[in-house]
Amino acid sequence: MHSHNHNHATDSNSDASRRIGWAFFLNVVFTIIEFIGGWLTNSTAIMADAVHDLGDSLSIGSAWVLNKLSDKKADNTFSYGYKRFSLLGALINGMVLTLGSIWILLESIPRLIEPEMPQVEGMLLLSIFGIAVNGFAAYKLSEGNSLNERVLNWHLLEDVLGWVAVLIVSIVLMFKPWPILDPVLSIGFTLFILFNVGRNLKETILLFFQATPDNKQLHEVRSILTSKPEVKELHHFHIWSLDGEHSVMTVHLVLNAEITVAHIKNLKTQLQKELKVFEFVHTTIELEFTDEVCRDDNSHRL
Ligand SMILES: [Zn+2]
Ligand SMILES: [Zn+2]
Ligand SMILES: [Zn+2]
Repeated sequence: MHSHNHNHATDSNSDASRRIGWAFFLNVVFTIIEFIGGWLTNSTAIMADAVHDLGDSLSIGSAWVLNKLSDKKADNTFSYGYKRFSLLGALINGMVLTLGSIWILLESIPRLIEPEMPQVEGMLLLSIFGIAVNGFAAYKLSEGNSLNERVLNWHLLEDVLGWVAVLIVSIVLMFKPWPILDPVLSIGFTLFILFNVGRNLKETILLFFQATPDNKQLHEVRSILTSKPEVKELHHFHIWSLDGEHSVMTVHLVLNAEITVAHIKNLKTQLQKELKVFEFVHTTIELEFTDEVCRDDNSHRL
């Protein structure tokens, strides 16, 4: 039994691609402006934001490429299609952000002890510019509702909030001599970045290692399979995910001794119906008779 359920809308894909391309271009340009601006204003908070935006640029860039790649059909070399390529993008992104965050912390922590006054007018101008650019990009993407676009939209809203914080700090610094606010803000940003990076990296690494994506789902599928009167036991039961959204299920079912072709057909029809809700993109079910030896090695009896 081998079924494929691919029913993703592709008609609006070129629109989505165009919007993501726009957001990518704006983000890259803005990231460069931020790094230069952070250096000119001597503000670690702006540098931290620049690192965050570098990460956004990378994820928008890979989403843009992947949005095109995901249209590509599976071939002999990549028989599962191209969905897994997104994991590589996520891994590279996570590593770049980790290195960037360490750099920001090394710059900011000494300034807690010896604060340096940033160039406040420059900070103010950059933050107004930042709110405008990120707000515009978020507005552009809010027209679309592909998963990539919704994720990116959330990123961009986060950025707007980050810039609002820089704006507030720069206004406070105009009236009060509290330069320590700058490293405090940048360390806050960086810890927030690292928290998200850690969470995403963990998810990506679990997907790389073909971890069971959802133990509750595994349990549900197992009880459906074992509830069938034709099934005596199961083993080589695997569920893993290509990219966090599209899962693959394989299992060996040992059938009861007194079974007919009609029983087997009935079993397959039942399973087809009951497994449909899980939307597995590749399902392989091996049927074994009691007197047969399993074709695979039995180092695991799951
Ligand atoms: Zn196995
Ligand atoms: Zn398949
Ligand atoms: Zn087997």
